[in-house]
Amino acid sequence: MQKTKIERVETILWDRWLLIKIHCEDGTVGIGEGGVHGWQRPTKTMLEVMSPYLIGKDPSLIEHHYQWLYRSSHFMGSVVQGALSAIDIALWDIKGKRLGVPIYDLMGGMTRHRVRCYMHVGGATVEDLAADAVKKAGQGFTALRFSPFPGDFHLHKSYSEWADEAVRRVGAVRDAVGNSVDICVEIHRQMNPAESIWLGRRLEQFNPYFYEDPMLPDSPAIMGDVQEQCNLPIATGERFASIFEFQQLLEAKATSYIRPDLCLCGGLSGCKKVAGMAEAHHVKVIPHNPLSPVSTAACVQLDAAIPNFALQEYTGEAEPPKSDLLVEPLELKEGYLTVPEGPGLGIELNEAALSYPVQDKVLDTPIGFDGSVQDR
Ligand SMILES: [Mg+2]
Repeated sequence: MQKTKIERVETILWDRWLLIKIHCEDGTVGIGEGGVHGWQRPTKTMLEVMSPYLIGKDPSLIEHHYQWLYRSSHFMGSVVQGALSAIDIALWDIKGKRLGVPIYDLMGGMTRHRVRCYMHVGGATVEDLAADAVKKAGQGFTALRFSPFPGDFHLHKSYSEWADEAVRRVGAVRDAVGNSVDICVEIHRQMNPAESIWLGRRLEQFNPYFYEDPMLPDSPAIMGDVQEQCNLPIATGERFASIFEFQQLLEAKATSYIRPDLCLCGGLSGCKKVAGMAEAHHVKVIPHNPLSPVSTAACVQLDAAIPNFALQEYTGEAEPPKSDLLVEPLELKEGYLTVPEGPGLGIELNEAALSYPVQDKVLDTPIGFDGSVQDR
């Protein structure tokens, strides 16, 4: 195939997300997304720092460009990785489009033709939560995820009160949807290790599919203790930006499922490596995806290419602005996303929707009953 060169890199702040378009001299345009959630402006600046290197380069050298930009960074971290992830996804999109094949074909071929999704549910009261779970199960979703804490409730009550409320909420969802739907409990790092173990043991009776981020994920050895002492499969990793953090997590036997974010942890290249490491530990992959439909499309390509995929996070894309972003949205049927057959990511951006106003992150984290700062 005739070679081409990268001509221009375009960054687009769109709603709460950061998109990228890499334009090639032959007219091919690769799409990507950077996912340092809330920090899209610093990530955009990082992309602008990296872009001059890419101009005039061969877009097919994906790993080479990743390594060059990564090793040039000296100090690494989430903003660097978010920018590299966006570039990686766009370069894979270019490769697929130029060769006329989906990305999963380039990564070993299709391992599944549809991707099972879990949907978010919520509600301020136990009744509202259970009703939303029934509604989403009625739409065909076979896995539902929710927080057992209503708002900041747990910050202003005794342990017994908030733990009892958490047990009530998880139990109500299980009663409402029965055993044909998996329930996924998301803690958002809002407990310490002791609380994680004791609440986890009380939730075992409801057989959750996973118990997500029961504590801060920064100490794999301590997370490993929690995993050993409660009979719930832990899922974690959404904040990890490198293959090295996942290596430590897996070595510590600290998790039952990993949650790499394709737009943060090195794009399709980085997360394919992470998935391979997880496979060697008999751990399955649940890609993190609170981002735009571009991220969803990238996740589906990985999900369709790896053998150890478990579930895909999906936050719903039927309402604006998400529903307007793609010329043809990915097909969702009975809680599964159909793996698209088009080249690259299998999507095209709807240019008319790119003028949506930017939603900047507002600094905010909870304050406890004694005025102390808590983790978000
Ligand atoms: Mg999470």
